[in-house]
Amino acid sequence: MRRTVRRAAGFASGVAQGRRGRSALALAFCRAVAGCAAIVAVAAALCPLAASATSAAPEEGGDFVRVGLYYGEKAPASCTVYSESGFILGVMANGGFQEGMPLPAYTQLTFSVNGGYTAVHAEGVLVSDDFGGGNCVMPYDYASGGLVQYEKGAFYRGGLSFAASTGNRLTVVNYLSAEAYLYGVIDAEMGYKSPLEALKAQAVVARSFAAGNAGLHGDDGFDLCTTTHCQVYRGYGGEHAETNAAVDGTAGIKLYHQGQAASGYYFKNSGGHTQNSEDVWNGKEAYLRGVRDEYAPEYAWSWTASTRELRAKLAESGRDPGEIRSVSISARNVNGSVRTLKISGAAGAVTLEKEQIRTVLGATAIKSLRFTLNDGAQAPSDVYVTDGTFTGKIQAEAFAVSAGADAARPLLVKDARFQGASALSEPGGAGAGTGESASGESIVFSGNGYGHGVGMPQDSAIEMAKQGFTYAEIINKYFTDVEIRQ
Ligand SMILES: [Zn+2]
Repeated sequence: MRRTVRRAAGFASGVAQGRRGRSALALAFCRAVAGCAAIVAVAAALCPLAASATSAAPEEGGDFVRVGLYYGEKAPASCTVYSESGFILGVMANGGFQEGMPLPAYTQLTFSVNGGYTAVHAEGVLVSDDFGGGNCVMPYDYASGGLVQYEKGAFYRGGLSFAASTGNRLTVVNYLSAEAYLYGVIDAEMGYKSPLEALKAQAVVARSFAAGNAGLHGDDGFDLCTTTHCQVYRGYGGEHAETNAAVDGTAGIKLYHQGQAASGYYFKNSGGHTQNSEDVWNGKEAYLRGVRDEYAPEYAWSWTASTRELRAKLAESGRDPGEIRSVSISARNVNGSVRTLKISGAAGAVTLEKEQIRTVLGATAIKSLRFTLNDGAQAPSDVYVTDGTFTGKIQAEAFAVSAGADAARPLLVKDARFQGASALSEPGGAGAGTGESASGESIVFSGNGYGHGVGMPQDSAIEMAKQGFTYAEIINKYFTDVEIRQ
């Protein structure tokens, strides 16, 4: 049993009597929520709030999502939230919010951790020192679209929960309906200025992703994170009329394959062909087939990496082939994209498969698996210049310096020293190579497209919408044999 009865009296005198006459029984509800057996019985007997607690959904639908806002290293030790309409404390339960203690008189609440328990203060007065697991605080007007603000920063629909996590920190989770969650996703993922039918396709696919990946972060106590790892979510501040209209215009509509809910996947640009799921990840899904993509806008990319840089990337992932001598594509998949990349070094060879190639070497460097290899021109190396007093390093990856007198004059450079390379080359130039293998001091990866390649390419969805296709036609182009329905 923890120290709450004494605090209960403090709450009653400090909050209830001083404000709107809430009785101390309200606190008893909090204890019931916290799961303390002895208090639960008392609460049930005495507290009308606990006895009459009802599930309520802030939006139509009933599907709720737990979005991790701050967790792990970013989890705060304490935080304050704001709502102009006041608050209601309760719990996340059975796909809805179970109302507990109303606190309409308070516009700010502070949460902190003490001894592994979440404490709640209302403008300095302790409301509960064990706001238990599954706790949730909603704005008092949540049923009519009220917002809660986190730390004078972002506003959120739905409610926030604060679970005590390791190191006396709070895992902050936004608990809200799936539809309200999507309001905060679509612009971040596609941009509100995209055509409506593309935004609607994005909404359906994102909704299907959220439904199919609930619990992805279950070990951390929530469903989805706010980054590209899951889907980018910016809360109320990320909403636009256009993207909300796309969500509302497809309310509850998701993807199904042979009667089963299907997860939605998407990415930026296909480079002309999308991918079979098993050619990127491990699982084969019949509705995630690679298709020729005639709507893909050109998206060419090139990445020149020194062998030293490649080796460092491999080492970061626990692989080290020694000094790298060559890189080769040992297998391509049926769609022509890279399946296996072999990196040979002085101490052996490292083989990377499918999407592992991007996760190990950098998914923003190797933008897609649709690439070829070429020898880099001789690697640019560090260049130092001096005016005789100061010496500085030129901060550029690629550069060219002319030996001509005209070029030298305006630089006022008295001395330049080149480290590591005996000569310099044209920036970004590519030397000889077959496209399938490369060697030398640097390797040039040249490709098309951006992203994992599975499911709907967003650039193509936008292009199809511009050409007059509906969101259902867009989805049917990139997902095989799917039903699009509520
Ligand atoms: Zn995630």
